[in-house]
Amino acid sequence: MSAIPSTALEIAAAVRSGSLSAREVLDDHLARIDAQDGEINAFNLVMTDEARAAAAAVDARVAAGEDPGPLAGVPLALKDNLCTRGIPTTCSSRILEGWRPPYDATVVQRVNAAGAVSIGKTNLDEFAMGSSTENSAFGPTRNPRDTGRVPGGSSGGSAAAVAAGFAPISLGSDTGGSIRQPAALCGVVGVKPTYGMVSRYGLIAFASSLDQIGPFSTTVADSALLLEAIAGHDGRDSTSIDAPVPSLLESLGQGVDGLRVGLVTELMGEGIAPDVAARVRQAADALTAAGAQVGEVSVPAAAYGLSAYYLIAPAEASSNLARYDGVRYGMRVDAPTTAEMNAATRTAGFGEEVKRRIMLGTYALSAGYYDAYYGKALKVRTLIVRDFEKAYADFDLLLTPTSPTTAFKFGDKTADPLSMYLNDICTIPTNLAGHPAMSVPFGGGSDGMPVGVQLLAPALGESTMFRAAAVLEAAAPALDEVWS
Ligand code: GLN
Repeated sequence: MSAIPSTALEIAAAVRSGSLSAREVLDDHLARIDAQDGEINAFNLVMTDEARAAAAAVDARVAAGEDPGPLAGVPLALKDNLCTRGIPTTCSSRILEGWRPPYDATVVQRVNAAGAVSIGKTNLDEFAMGSSTENSAFGPTRNPRDTGRVPGGSSGGSAAAVAAGFAPISLGSDTGGSIRQPAALCGVVGVKPTYGMVSRYGLIAFASSLDQIGPFSTTVADSALLLEAIAGHDGRDSTSIDAPVPSLLESLGQGVDGLRVGLVTELMGEGIAPDVAARVRQAADALTAAGAQVGEVSVPAAAYGLSAYYLIAPAEASSNLARYDGVRYGMRVDAPTTAEMNAATRTAGFGEEVKRRIMLGTYALSAGYYDAYYGKALKVRTLIVRDFEKAYADFDLLLTPTSPTTAFKFGDKTADPLSMYLNDICTIPTNLAGHPAMSVPFGGGSDGMPVGVQLLAPALGESTMFRAAAVLEAAAPALDEVWS
């Protein structure tokens, strides 16, 4: 079984050439899930039958002399807020119990068309609200590097599935850091693309002005491969950008010679653990050694990103989640009147954090408070966009930590929502600006857990971002390298 290659690029090459069957690849990954997912809980649902059928179809195409595509036979895990036709899609919430979407998300269609084998639906913080995957109605996911610790969130299941070797690639969604932060905590690569680069058709909405879908993988090249497969215009998402998809795989070998990289001052000080900051400085040195010009840059409004986000995202969520009324989707708790049925259903169906967000958002949007809260947050958002514009006048890329700390222990932050929200301090500003960003594993912290460093680029700057990511990947210290 150990003959199965570990990366998506290698698996697809072997399957396309006929030297390895998609069935063998799938069996190997299903066996790993069988052996270990009882403990990790990365999956809400393993799509065994559908995956076997998809793998058989790939093998039949290869046998017929056809090319199944760039992801031929590659097992892929899907965050359970991505709609899959006829297959339960829960957002890790009781309120969607029993609901089966009548259609596939565009990204699901695209990975299937590229030959991937969708292997299951992964656990998340309910409706993608959280930073640890502890807010799932189906129990937390465990970090495969240390099962006493969280995998990060909200796409904790997708990050853990890749870190545990259950699938070489997976998809998550990132509204305020939910791809990059769990990628950092689990020691894998995670990418939030430019807002509009990947269609959200069939992604269950959390905060529509922020949500983006993106890849997880163990290597930078695999994320480039998967992002190329899912990116590109889609008329069914009105925010989709109508521009050619940049070739990312091609850019990987181009190095960083002459690129200007800015270390963001505001995200290197207070609140950032010293061992994490030290790894970011080491990453900056690696980029310098590869020919980049590294300097410090200030993005002053970034410091207010968190406050603005925790008004804007709940405001949008309070509106998006109004549709779960006991009539249109999933569960219903019967009651004498419609209003009572709505209330009883939402009381029973939503967890604590989702209720907190709906209340925060409804309050921020209410008459008399709208300007003071929501209106002001939008102004801060504009300031952040302007500060980034200034930074990108002098720098091609920015560098920050992804998460202020390494993976924390279960229960450490559940009693205090604000301490949980602080995890997103480094990732949120780019969501507010709509820019791309990615987390690349870069050695371990003093506790031996993975550290992720974050690269930020201006809108549609993915190619440059991936060039630097490849350099960091090559220079990254081993996870177990002794901390000095
Ligand atoms: N942790 C953030 C939140 O709870 C971000 C979540 C996300 O990106 N989906 O809102």
